[in-house]
Amino acid sequence: MNSSTSRQHFLLQPFWEYILTEFAGPVNSPVFPVLLAFSGYLCFSLPFAVIDMLGDRCQFFYQYKIQKNRRPTINMMIFCLWKAVCNHVIYVFPNVFLNWLWMPPVPLPVSAPSVFTLLGEVLGCLLLFDFQYFIWHFLHHKNHWLYKRVHAVHHEYVAPFSWSSQHLSGFELMAVGFWSTINPNRLGCHPLTSWICNLLSVWMSVDDHIGYSFPWSLHHIFPLGLYGGALAHDLHHQKPGTNFAPFFRHWDLICGTASSLGELSL
Ligand SMILES: [Zn+2]
Ligand SMILES: [Zn+2]
Repeated sequence: MNSSTSRQHFLLQPFWEYILTEFAGPVNSPVFPVLLAFSGYLCFSLPFAVIDMLGDRCQFFYQYKIQKNRRPTINMMIFCLWKAVCNHVIYVFPNVFLNWLWMPPVPLPVSAPSVFTLLGEVLGCLLLFDFQYFIWHFLHHKNHWLYKRVHAVHHEYVAPFSWSSQHLSGFELMAVGFWSTINPNRLGCHPLTSWICNLLSVWMSVDDHIGYSFPWSLHHIFPLGLYGGALAHDLHHQKPGTNFAPFFRHWDLICGTASSLGELSL
């Protein structure tokens, strides 16, 4: 190992050793990724729920609302949260238990990944997930049977809001959870990569649904307009024939399913 690689390892090693010493049991539990994703969903969604409840009383945020004529009610928010809890109890936790019986957890590695390895793995996993969901999403809009039985639930709200990122049928939640869990494992990524990908996917998915196009939003900052974010996904809920990729725009641009730049200029 050369000196620059060992320096990169050194950057994350103290943090990783702290995790191994203090939290090895909890983080190696099969329910840890689920609890991490669900707490991420709660923490990332809550601030935008407050912004939604303030509405036009707080013009600083409200001026950036994409569909100003449609505001979520408190009942809609509670219903989405309740659906997310039910989906976890009915589908996710039993599946985690079966998976644990089938594949018991392996011991955590003693070494941290290098910073470059971590960044490369995270980007690779996000790009792979983006591609998988693009194909899945496209098929579920093109096939009427699949749309009605699996994906239509998610389109009950024409104007998305933060809690609605998990307003999904149990099958859709399982497909999303399957890829986010399996991709890092199958690619041989470090557990730290899996956890970061897990949280980033939840954050980007909540960001897709916030219903606001802030000047500081990732889709305005990301170079070459290659990140869809809230604006592209809001348009997907308004016109479901466009913007199938969850995060990035390259597959929609390649396949001719991206909204025009004019529509994305809000
Ligand atoms: Zn959506
Ligand atoms: Zn859709």
